[in-house]
Amino acid sequence: MKLFEENQLKIYNSLSKTKEVFTPVHKGHIGMYVCGPTVYSNVHLGNLRTFMFFDVAFRYFLHLGYKVRYVRNITDAGHLENDADEGEDRIAKKARLEEIEPMEVVQRYTVDFHDVLKKYNFLPPSIEPTATGHIVEQIEMIKDIIDKGLGYEINGSVYFDVIAYNKSNHYGILSGRKIEDAIHNTRALDGQSDKRNPQDFALWKKADERHIMRWSSPWSEGFPGWHLECSVMSSKYLGDKFDIHGGGLDLKFPHHECEIAQSKTCSGHDPVNYWMHTNMLLLNGQKMAKSTGNYILPNEILTGENKILSKAFSPSVVRFFNMQANYRSVLDFSNDALEASEKGYYKLMDAMTSLSNLSTQKSSSINISEWKHKCYAAMNDDFNTPVLISHIFEGVRFINQIKEGKASINSNDLVNFITTMNAFVYDVLGLLNDVNDQASDKIDGVVSLLIKLRKEARENKDWDLSDQIRDELLAIGIQLKDGREGTTYSIS
Ligand SMILES: [Zn+2]
Repeated sequence: MKLFEENQLKIYNSLSKTKEVFTPVHKGHIGMYVCGPTVYSNVHLGNLRTFMFFDVAFRYFLHLGYKVRYVRNITDAGHLENDADEGEDRIAKKARLEEIEPMEVVQRYTVDFHDVLKKYNFLPPSIEPTATGHIVEQIEMIKDIIDKGLGYEINGSVYFDVIAYNKSNHYGILSGRKIEDAIHNTRALDGQSDKRNPQDFALWKKADERHIMRWSSPWSEGFPGWHLECSVMSSKYLGDKFDIHGGGLDLKFPHHECEIAQSKTCSGHDPVNYWMHTNMLLLNGQKMAKSTGNYILPNEILTGENKILSKAFSPSVVRFFNMQANYRSVLDFSNDALEASEKGYYKLMDAMTSLSNLSTQKSSSINISEWKHKCYAAMNDDFNTPVLISHIFEGVRFINQIKEGKASINSNDLVNFITTMNAFVYDVLGLLNDVNDQASDKIDGVVSLLIKLRKEARENKDWDLSDQIRDELLAIGIQLKDGREGTTYSIS
């Protein structure tokens, strides 16, 4: 029996605004789509939070034995400034400013994105499709929407008729916005737009002469509207009715609302059963913004190179910090909060290291099955990672009590205990026990210091001290090698 058969998972559905029992479209299978990054700059820490949460959800589904197809796209065209239908393509603008090809921008930041996710121990999604790789399919969907009477062409651009759609559907079903209020931004009202109604959104935009990224279509040389790619790629890879669609809260409107309208127009039904949205990440209690300097990149946390931080933190500490908050709550990132998480993380890893060395007794004084049940119950309650972590720390207390002889565990329970701790800490939360890596960083610092002192001793012709440093290091297995480039070392 697979684990999912004995675990009833509940998911908070942004569409119904309630926690619902999760029932996949196809038993034992899950189709999940998460809106990926627009690759015109380094991945944002707020986006990292979103992707990290869905990584943990993905990991939990796999742990439960589901076969998961996880699609996370790369937006490499069509995403205009201000998330609206006017303005320049974000990638094309960056390319123009830096005088490089748009695809160079895409390549640079896609590589950066993958590099960051690898450092933070993400599992790769099953498919990572790009908008530019699906232009043909996007043109086909626009034709379909026009055929269904909800798309119209004006001057080479095609728009979605929100007012007409809303006559027999509910535009605003996800975001709760009223159609009268759903005016994307004031710029749409400045008379520059061809739209029939300001609420309408672009399916295809005719490219002006400056626009570098352009494709042929029946309407003009241009590019697809940003919302279209997700409708196209989710239905292509997951079908026109799939289980989970996720993203940051800021995507609920207009992006996800528009996705629903497009997909429903083509298939005749709601495309997604469970909509999931992650909440915002603040930095020192304020919104993150490059312009105010209240801003930090995921990579800077790992190097400590940001004035907000007192030091560098390991990727697992950042992961642990993220999982200490519920994904639907606002999370405030700060140096103090990370330092507190680091203490907790070390305490946990200390316990994990001694877990396999615990000695067993004939009977157990602690109830491992009850504890295990609570761990699963926390995750089954809409992925409540902070509650899971509190149970994991109950596990840490067990470990310490057993070590100190204040509690006992029998061998069956110990196997169960180790398996469950490993599953939740490493497989589901995706933490790594990199405490040893930290120790080797410290050794490197100490040996480098001794090499520097030996060099100074040699410069002062203090051969006794210089030989003493070399010999005593060798005695503990650290061999110094003098070369043209300076002194290096190896550990045997
Ligand atoms: Zn999307």
